[in-house]
Amino acid sequence: MTNITLITGDGIGPEIAEAARRCVDATGAKIHWEIARAGIDVMQREGTPLPQDTIDSVQKNKIALKAPITTPVGTGFRSINVSLRQMFNLYACLRPCKSYKGVHSKYADIDLIIVRENTEDLYAGIEYQKGKDDTAELIDWLNKHSSRKITPDSGISIKPISVAGTQRIVKFAFEYARRMNRRKVTSVHKANIMKHTDGLWLEVSRDVAKQYPDIEFEDRIIDNMCMQLVQKPEIYDVLVLPNLYGDIISDLCAGLVGGLGVAPGANIGDKGAIFEATHGSAPKYAGQNKVNPCALILSAVLMLEYIGLQAEAQKLEKAVAAVIAEGKYVTYDLKDDRNDPTAVGTSEMADAIIEKIRT
Ligand code: NAD
Repeated sequence: MTNITLITGDGIGPEIAEAARRCVDATGAKIHWEIARAGIDVMQREGTPLPQDTIDSVQKNKIALKAPITTPVGTGFRSINVSLRQMFNLYACLRPCKSYKGVHSKYADIDLIIVRENTEDLYAGIEYQKGKDDTAELIDWLNKHSSRKITPDSGISIKPISVAGTQRIVKFAFEYARRMNRRKVTSVHKANIMKHTDGLWLEVSRDVAKQYPDIEFEDRIIDNMCMQLVQKPEIYDVLVLPNLYGDIISDLCAGLVGGLGVAPGANIGDKGAIFEATHGSAPKYAGQNKVNPCALILSAVLMLEYIGLQAEAQKLEKAVAAVIAEGKYVTYDLKDDRNDPTAVGTSEMADAIIEKIRT
């Protein structure tokens, strides 16, 4: 029996969490779910969006399946999603982007794995606001030490990329490629312009690649990568990217396979992992039993693979693929016409997936 924390989230979270839990259980995987709360509703009731017992549960079990959580814009609390990633040092964001027959897309046969660094780069949160004293101090220092001048009306974001941070994410990409029998890793960067950050990333990528002679390695400049992904995505396999490029390319690739409804994800560290859909809490659909549960169910497939239950993972993915391909018991977003009255609800789509697992 594996203990797993199920964070039910808010918005559409509880509905898709329940659908995913039922589908995983139907595979016969021996999982004991510990239900944990987080999100905007919990904030209103308990004064914190991330209660200590939820943190304790993830700490203890090391593995969580997490439904989406709202991040209020402007005021309100910090992103729980980002807090959890930082708290448990989940440095690798894994986003498979795969074509499923029956999902509307301009492309077919896409099978890409995006490995995004989750802790460094312009997302490190080291930022200086225009007009503040510390910003002026930093600008003074930079102007003294650089031939390029920064004007006093500037805001500044810092982009740290370290050897250790790059080594661990590139190794993660190669280890994943080896474990999952993938053929190639492409390291993405802008080393021609940012020599001391992306240049370092590229140098370290090349070094790490030497330890994996069985897997092909190449690099691409980010702008060229974008064009090639749109023109010939089939020539790529596993992509490893610094945080910001990884964020953008993940969405580009989700677009290649038909959007958020089928885009799973995982945040993985050395001591644990949180599996979650790429999409958010879609508050306007909350409580309507309407949205597509597949992205969270496919995130649960990644979770089953991660805990070594390969057969159960395959069974679940095959069932999801079959239900989508048949196109009968699917949610509105997977129908040709989004107003198609034959679209089923979240729980009915989960029922159809469970039925497929059992046959
Ligand atoms: P969103 O992904 O929640 O929804 C955007 C639109 O995509 C929805 O209106 C809906 O039309 C569609 N959609 C999303 N999920 C769907 C599904 N499962 N089935 C069918 N259609 C679906 O993005 P948003 O509206 O920008 O964000 C809402 C909230 O979610 C925000 O507070 C945001 O911060 C948060 N968010 C959380 C996470 C997370 O928990 N990891 C990720 C992204 C956004």
